[in-house]
Amino acid sequence: STPTRPLIAGNWKMNGTDAALDELARLKTLLGEAPGLAAEVLVCPPSTLIHRAAQIAEGSDFRVGGQDCHWLASGAHTGDISAAMLLDAGASHVILGHSERRADHGETDAIVREKTKAALAGGLVPIVCVGETEAERVEGRANRVIAEQLAGSLPDESGAGPMVIAYEPVWAIGTGRTATLADIAEMHAHMRALLVERFGEAGRAARLLYGGSVKPSNAAEILAVPDVDGALVGGASLMADDFFSIVVAA
Ligand code: PEP
Repeated sequence: STPTRPLIAGNWKMNGTDAALDELARLKTLLGEAPGLAAEVLVCPPSTLIHRAAQIAEGSDFRVGGQDCHWLASGAHTGDISAAMLLDAGASHVILGHSERRADHGETDAIVREKTKAALAGGLVPIVCVGETEAERVEGRANRVIAEQLAGSLPDESGAGPMVIAYEPVWAIGTGRTATLADIAEMHAHMRALLVERFGEAGRAARLLYGGSVKPSNAAEILAVPDVDGALVGGASLMADDFFSIVVAA
């Protein structure tokens, strides 16, 4: 079976203090006024807001996720946060291996794989991010890079739980540039084939999100591409009305 409901996930990155919770209250109102939408909705605020965001999400049609977790459950790791802590704060999902974490914190595929194991063991749905750089695409290596990232970042355990993968070409993140629909279609078909080859039915059921400058004006055409089962949205997730427009487009 292929995924039944698309997933629209917002990644707030390092944005948002108390006042940003007003946007979540607004999102709750908008979702409440539009029952029966096709998409599942997730918002990943910074860790400091997860608990309060989850309280707002109660009785609403969106859920809350983290943006990273450690590969261990607890211990002497100053500044880190574990899957158990995210779950305790009210998160259901966690973004792992985002290209900004790979770049800013040196996260390798092996680290992302350990974090993905920890998320699964801790009861969270991992959203594992992959994406090629512009140079890799220009050199014709995008398919190989994504194959390597998927092979290295996903533990065998991924086959046992709900699988969410986000394809985010690095050059399309926060730049206003999106991949062409043809490039997205080709990459998502490539990823689907690799996931089915490795995980069988679980790979067929995996949700494959596209991310990279998704906005209200391009969401519908991107979400209509075969094997695109949702979107990971950065900048356009910060304002409830923009984010809601993308949810409606799914
Ligand atoms: C992201 O970083 O996950 C992302 C897709 O960002 P943006 O939508 O701002 O390009």
